[in-house]
Amino acid sequence: MELTEQAIQANAGQRRKMIEEQLLGRGIKDLAVMEAMSRVPRHLFVNTSLQHRAYGDCPLPIGENQTISQPYIVALMTQALQLKGEERILEIGTGSGYQTAILAELASQVFTIERIKPLAKKTKGLLEGLGYENIVYKAFDGTYGWRDQSPFDVILISASTPEVPAALIEQLADKGRLVAPVGGRETQDLVVITKHGDRVIKRKMGSCRFVPLIGKFAWPEEE
Ligand code: SAH
Repeated sequence: MELTEQAIQANAGQRRKMIEEQLLGRGIKDLAVMEAMSRVPRHLFVNTSLQHRAYGDCPLPIGENQTISQPYIVALMTQALQLKGEERILEIGTGSGYQTAILAELASQVFTIERIKPLAKKTKGLLEGLGYENIVYKAFDGTYGWRDQSPFDVILISASTPEVPAALIEQLADKGRLVAPVGGRETQDLVVITKHGDRVIKRKMGSCRFVPLIGKFAWPEEE
């Protein structure tokens, strides 16, 4: 679909409704997060055939067996990061790029890694087409992190992992925040980790269901 100004501006009413019913109605309080979600045209992050469901209260398929996260989960994870605008962020699991765009709206720079090359390429094209200039892309296994760009003020993992890969905790800055779905293949806890010197403090925000983080330091690839 062509990225005309009209296509980008479309569906403002649906975005307002999504924010009122799915976010405000469920206790999301961070105004900056809600403003970012009212700007980003979520319908452009899914296939044309699914655009009529883009503002619904659920994840949707984006091809390659992957999904775009539910709006509420995007808001909850982003709110937990407490972004002020100056942060350098590492995101693991670019997927559709919707969460990437929200982060790019609210922070200084986003480094995003996606393991599926065709998805990484397609999403980079979309985000560049939308005019984001503060995103750096890599198609690789994100469980290694991005050492030569570290430390990061914030790390967000958008796929489920049995444990947070050690490299990612290492690459988190002191006082940095990391949010990830941690647990089994089927369900996970959304976990917020804060780093204080050598100590990490973990807080659980509730249960969730993500596609698996597949890589050297997470789940193995399925046969
Ligand atoms: N926030 C994204 C979520 C996409 S689903 C969105 O809303 O669209 C999770 C993504 O993580 C998938 O695209 C999947 O391919 C990717 N992924 C899984 N394991 C990965 C790994 N080791 N490194 C980088 N990306 C990974």
